[in-house]
Amino acid sequence: MTPSAYAWTEGETLAQHFESHGVSRRDFVKFCSEIAVALGLGIAAGPRIARALESVKRPSVIWLQLQECTGCVESVLRTADPTIGDLLLDVVSLDYNHTLMASAGDAVERARQSAMAANKGKYILVVTGSIPTKEDGIYTVIGGRTAEDLLREAADGAAAILAVGACAHWGSVQAARPNPTGAVGVRDIIKNRPIVNIAGCPPIGDVITATVVHYLTFGRLPAVDREGRPLFAYGKRIHDQCTRRAHFDAGQFVESFDDESARKGWCLYSVGCKGPATFSPCPIFQWNTRTSWPIGAGHPCIGCTEPHFWDTMTPFYGRLPNVGGFAVEQRVDTIGAALAVGAAAGVAAHAAATVFTQIRRRKATHQVPETGTETENDDG
Ligand code: SF4
Ligand code: SF4
Repeated sequence: MTPSAYAWTEGETLAQHFESHGVSRRDFVKFCSEIAVALGLGIAAGPRIARALESVKRPSVIWLQLQECTGCVESVLRTADPTIGDLLLDVVSLDYNHTLMASAGDAVERARQSAMAANKGKYILVVTGSIPTKEDGIYTVIGGRTAEDLLREAADGAAAILAVGACAHWGSVQAARPNPTGAVGVRDIIKNRPIVNIAGCPPIGDVITATVVHYLTFGRLPAVDREGRPLFAYGKRIHDQCTRRAHFDAGQFVESFDDESARKGWCLYSVGCKGPATFSPCPIFQWNTRTSWPIGAGHPCIGCTEPHFWDTMTPFYGRLPNVGGFAVEQRVDTIGAALAVGAAAGVAAHAAATVFTQIRRRKATHQVPETGTETENDDG
């Protein structure tokens, strides 16, 4: 994907751009209705979103990739519906992303500078990756400038910022103890711009798309929770939307990944699922054109939408303690005692005790900075 692949005619509206790319009005309204449902506004809000989007002219997006693995960009490229993917990477003008752009070096840096100048105060800034602060930021240098320098400059002219992925908001794996590069998130550095946290490692591409649509429709970022995550996507726990929840309530648990209960699709709590402590839309939005999601594929949730999950949710295969439910503790312990032997039982018990202690201690020590976004949802 290069900028030439999503060329935008001067003065063209979104509706005209869709039409010139063969998207019918019917499909456009259908897409808007799907987004309206995703945003929690109800299907009836689809035509309203369509009317608002149709008149939008060439929104500009500057995408900075800082200290990261590129997984978040991969996630966006895997957006489910071609029309939704178009909206972000084709219809929405992506003026700068050094991975997606065909050119490199000075030409790319000049493109970023001119796009920021032309759209000053109006562009959406998307950031993936953390910002290293130790050793004067030398751990991430792009075009001879540190990540922090680039971020401060780009944020200065941004209307709103999307911190996409765990790296951009909490530092993710780079910030895991002992955090050798001094990695921090965007809102640890930028204090005077509205920032929304599209949480996950990586996040679901459709959540990014829906957030952009919300901004283009209403002129502001969606309502967020105390961690800066959009409530429309992160307002519910995995555990409360999980397709295996009936097995949890019935006390039916997988005890090892290849046992009969795993083949039956029972609950993954006892093999480390962090779903009871994780807020995320994974069960609803899913992945890979809504084919599946981690728990659906038989792997426990690792809690990647939660703050500092590399420290707070590890060991990933250690059981979360004290989750309320129908006799869950008794059931898991009973089954565990029956199946585990010798040292294995000692290791499991130690892991459970460790994760409980770590989660309490780490949640107590990690600070939660404030964001500039609204906290009440008045979109309806
Ligand atoms: S949040 Fe995860 S997937 Fe995204 S850039 Fe960071 S490490 Fe990669
Ligand atoms: S513990 Fe995990 S697998 Fe079990 S119901 Fe909750 S979220 Fe689903």
